[in-house]
Amino acid sequence: MAASKKIVILGGSYGGVSAAHYLLKHAIPYLPEKASYQVVIVSTASHAFCRPACPRAMISDEMFTQEKLFVSIPKSFEQYAKESFRFVHGTATELDHTSRTVTISLADGDTERLDFYALVIATGASTASPLLSLNGDVDFLRKNWTEFRKALATAKTIVVGGGGPAGVECAGELGEYLNGRAGWFSSKLANPKVSVTIVNAGSKLLPALRPSLANKAEQYLAKVGVTVVKNARITSVSPQGAGTDSVASKATVTLENGKTLDADIYIPATGTKPNTGFVNEELLGSDGRVDTNASTLRVDKAGPRVYAVGDVASYARPAVHLILNAIPVLCANIKRDLLLDSGKEKGSTGEDRTFEEDTRETQMVPIGKSKGVGAAMGYQLPSFMVWLIKGRDYWLWTVGRLWSGKQWAKES
Ligand SMILES: Cc1cc2nc3c(=O)[nH]c(=O)nc-3n(C[C@H](O)[C@H](O)[C@H](O)COP(=O)(O)OP(=O)(O)OC[C@H]3O[C@@H](n4cnc5c(N)ncnc54)[C@H](O)[C@@H]3O)c2cc1C
Repeated sequence: MAASKKIVILGGSYGGVSAAHYLLKHAIPYLPEKASYQVVIVSTASHAFCRPACPRAMISDEMFTQEKLFVSIPKSFEQYAKESFRFVHGTATELDHTSRTVTISLADGDTERLDFYALVIATGASTASPLLSLNGDVDFLRKNWTEFRKALATAKTIVVGGGGPAGVECAGELGEYLNGRAGWFSSKLANPKVSVTIVNAGSKLLPALRPSLANKAEQYLAKVGVTVVKNARITSVSPQGAGTDSVASKATVTLENGKTLDADIYIPATGTKPNTGFVNEELLGSDGRVDTNASTLRVDKAGPRVYAVGDVASYARPAVHLILNAIPVLCANIKRDLLLDSGKEKGSTGEDRTFEEDTRETQMVPIGKSKGVGAAMGYQLPSFMVWLIKGRDYWLWTVGRLWSGKQWAKES
């Protein structure tokens, strides 16, 4: 039987790859006429990538085993029956949710229109700095890392915009790599070789963590020669495109109070922008994310069997552990919708599963290779634990199971 019912998943990262494995393992095999379904991942990037590792990985390829950092998506799905899965290397450029088609600009230059039977939008979010995520394909990221590394070799001043976790991690990694770490008895590194400055709009770093942890982070940053400027909103950067279009460009950063900072390298770490350029505005919330039912993960306004998960969706704040909590709920509801559409009685499929965001203070922020601050499920973690869980390899120890699907071996 030809696979005529396409379950199209847009985006090949934490949300998209996990949903595809879960559906192939725990939904498709239990549907009547299972051979009529095909899971299709469409992704701009051919590889899944441990994105949280960027603050350290951008410095040098020596930091991580590259084969663990970037994992081929099609290879990860060779374990399933050939007809049940397809990988499309391309970018969704237009979603017509009324006629239920999505237009893809393929990596080889062609265009394809895909009819979908069910759709999962998992296109995530891009960072202003192309150093910090797969804003394009792997080659694009690598090209930016190469330019950045060249500039790093001679840089004397680096300005990092934003004092959230990405900004603090970037500054901490760069500070330690370029300047080393102050001794046990010194509270700060005297005369750092390279001046690294975080410019933060708010009065405290790391808004998701309690003030005592933000203060601790500042102390650790001082030990690797990083200065923090607070209550300082960046109003402009010149030349335009410094840090965004060109990662190696010198820049002058102007603050709200009129002061300016000159930098050999400027890294904007000021938040992310959801990848929703291809989605009709009527499906978006005011923050630009896909307006997603926070309980069922359906995109109610888009018609039947349309869902969103991950950073692109509005149901929760952007974090990997929340995506992992959402996947079983999302996939159970997809399975239920597919069973109902195949003619199963409502009584036999059970109720919708519901998602509830865990809002407890949870965030880990390494500061260089041996220190860090953080909390998990509302409990403060000692620096050693932050190092052990995240700082050693920025979660690389966890992603092998995710990309291979082993994480989802059991239905949960
Ligand atoms: C520097 C940094 C550090 C972080 N550290 C942590 C951390 O320690 N812990 C944590 O929980 N979270 C962390 N996060 C957040 C975490 O990375 C995200 O929550 C996670 O990556 C979101 O996964 P996702 O699947 O939603 O999308 P993304 O990871 O954003 O991936 C989106 C995918 O969709 C593809 N894509 C984009 N547009 C299209 C399109 N139009 N068509 C087809 N494909 C498309 C992209 O190529 C990409 O593969 C960090 C984020 C950053 C930037």
